[in-house]
Amino acid sequence: MEFFRGLLKCPDCGQTLLIHTDNRNPDRELLDKTYYQCTTYRKKGANFCTAHRISARDIENAVKSDIGRHAIKAMKDKEKFIKNVLHSMNESSAERSDKIRSEIEKLKSRNDELDQMYIKLYEDYSGNILSEKKFTMLSSHYEKEQKQNEARLEELEQQYREKSAAVTNAEQFTENLMQCADMKKLTATILNMLIEKIEVHNPVMVNGAKEQKLTIYYKFVGQID
Ligand SMILES: [Zn+2]
Repeated sequence: MEFFRGLLKCPDCGQTLLIHTDNRNPDRELLDKTYYQCTTYRKKGANFCTAHRISARDIENAVKSDIGRHAIKAMKDKEKFIKNVLHSMNESSAERSDKIRSEIEKLKSRNDELDQMYIKLYEDYSGNILSEKKFTMLSSHYEKEQKQNEARLEELEQQYREKSAAVTNAEQFTENLMQCADMKKLTATILNMLIEKIEVHNPVMVNGAKEQKLTIYYKFVGQID
């Protein structure tokens, strides 16, 4: 359980959670008597934060089931999983990056086309088919379009690089996740590979039952659905 140390955060005050053992019932299993609590609450008291108390058993079960749930999806359909991860990352997904790529290709081929048109124009001009006035007018027209295309290309290349970085991160996370797919139990290695941090919310009563929300941030990708 020690390996959760440092990963658990209080979302209210931002402090790490402290581990402590509740020995009131010494017969309980270690997992059931080990708890985490907000450091601020533990050290300064209830005027400063709430307990955010969670047992090692509960945190382990919750994290294990969340990893397992994602791992199953990733094993079933890796590409679809990566797309969903990108969607959660608020990166307008791999499709978006395909769109950018295709707009880049279109602009590049349009610029090639304009080069060809310019050559043809020049031939017509030197073969006296075209007046100088017409040549100047058309060639400056082509040039203007090319310049606009180049500015847009630069913008798109930048966007594409950013999207590619997000895709690389999503792929890396998915690879790591799949490596952990057949885990029997959580280990420090698995947590280290997959988890950035876990926010432990203070429990609330909903219709007479205690509910405690955890927000898991995975490495490379953050929160995922
Ligand atoms: Zn706190």
